[in-house]
Amino acid sequence: MTPAVLHRLIVAVSDDVIAHADELTALDQAVGDGDHGINMKRGFDAVRADAQATAEKPLPEALKAIGTQLVMKVGGASGPLYGTLFLALSKEIAPDGSNLPAAFGKAVEAVKARGKSQPGQKTMLDVLTPVQTALAEGGADLRARLPIVAASAAEATVPMLATRGRASFLGERSVGHMDPGARSTALMVATVCRVLED
Ligand code: ADP
Ligand code: MG
Repeated sequence: MTPAVLHRLIVAVSDDVIAHADELTALDQAVGDGDHGINMKRGFDAVRADAQATAEKPLPEALKAIGTQLVMKVGGASGPLYGTLFLALSKEIAPDGSNLPAAFGKAVEAVKARGKSQPGQKTMLDVLTPVQTALAEGGADLRARLPIVAASAAEATVPMLATRGRASFLGERSVGHMDPGARSTALMVATVCRVLED
């Protein structure tokens, strides 16, 4: 991972999240309090502003810087959870990124512990977990497959009943809408795979 690639990744993920802020907010208006897009935009505006300095750090330190920004700036339930994902990844990842599947697995476990949540509850974990499984399976077509896995996993949250997070307050009325955090996770996965394929 060169600083140039890392810089492209940080800028592309930030820009995509910021560009989809209205969509994320609309999803959160249906099942939450309508701030997911605003929260994520605030966090990734900060991440993007630091992109140059962050990209010059070794990969673990860069992930730590991103996680710290997300914890400080995103807020809501998703800020600490995405922050945990990146901070746990920063602790586990090898400087050359070679152990990504194992490190990502540990990071997803950290999100579960932090959120006291499991897949099947209509949250970001319903995308993180199948992505983790696909990463562990590996394969030459991984970068093509991961965005499809993530997008269909986000789609699969539509019929789910929310039992964690703000959407769970809606009970049965949470059914029929995509989880905002599942969508933002799928979005970031797609962007990372697109940039790494270029
Ligand atoms: P808030 O719910 O505090 O308004 P956001 O709107 O930014 O925060 O984020 C909502 C998203 O956070 C949900 O769509 C869901 O994916 C995720 N989320 C909320 N609570 C949990 C949890 N306990 N475990 C995993 N993900 C969660
Ligand atoms: Mg919200």
